[in-house]
Amino acid sequence: MRLFNVAVTRAQTRLYVIGSRERIRNAKSDTALAHLGGLLGSPGVRCVPGAQLISPPAADDRRLGVFGSALADVLSRHVEVAAVHDETTFYEAFHHELRTARSSIWLWAPWVAQRVRTILPLLREASDRGVRVTVFIRDDTDKLQGRPKNQKLIAELRAVAHTVVPVNYMHQKIVVIDEKTVMLGSLNTLSQRWTREVMVTMRGGHFARKLLEHEHADLFAGPPQCGRCGDRDSIELRRRTNGIWFWRCYDTACKAGRNGRSNAWNQDIRLGAARR
Ligand SMILES: [Zn+2]
Repeated sequence: MRLFNVAVTRAQTRLYVIGSRERIRNAKSDTALAHLGGLLGSPGVRCVPGAQLISPPAADDRRLGVFGSALADVLSRHVEVAAVHDETTFYEAFHHELRTARSSIWLWAPWVAQRVRTILPLLREASDRGVRVTVFIRDDTDKLQGRPKNQKLIAELRAVAHTVVPVNYMHQKIVVIDEKTVMLGSLNTLSQRWTREVMVTMRGGHFARKLLEHEHADLFAGPPQCGRCGDRDSIELRRRTNGIWFWRCYDTACKAGRNGRSNAWNQDIRLGAARR
């Protein structure tokens, strides 16, 4: 209580008290908490339910007010390591995340193999309830990915996800749900079969958004139309040795030069041009 008194009397412009509203309301009379309870509801004292401070950024935060929003921003930098999974426990947790996703699912999953068949129904359900599904996969110059069997599964994935972007030499394994939950590690979510893996589940809106920003998620989720054949589904993402990213059309008819050599349409990407 002495510490509480010290804290309160040192405050110069603003005082945040985080605690149980019920306990403050029911505090014994003539205690500091009881006086605080008496202030609840008076002008200048704003009560914000804790759940609102730690809910995903998509939630309406107008109710928080200026100071509440500032506090929510500070709290969002907090990252909770919620779980560590291996290949035997990961999928139960992953399925649960997909089932409970409310606004967005981002996947970086290099290979698409038989495993995707168990994930597609969950992605379809999510999409049906309005969740945006974006998937980055390895492009088909990769031997395994280029097999007809894998290409067929990719076509099934394209039929369910809003956006599927093939990326040359892609190797990240990331799951981001509702810009709040991140699953990050070694496991290929759409192709895992028998390899030993580790995936860490972390919760924190600030971290999730930072990771999306790091992956240029918004920018890379919007491939342009090919400047030559007009197709958008045959656009892949590549990176030059100098680090510059570019879009490239891999449609075989579009990229064939007159002499039979590849002459693919491509366009450099200006980073920083995204919405965020
Ligand atoms: Zn083209």
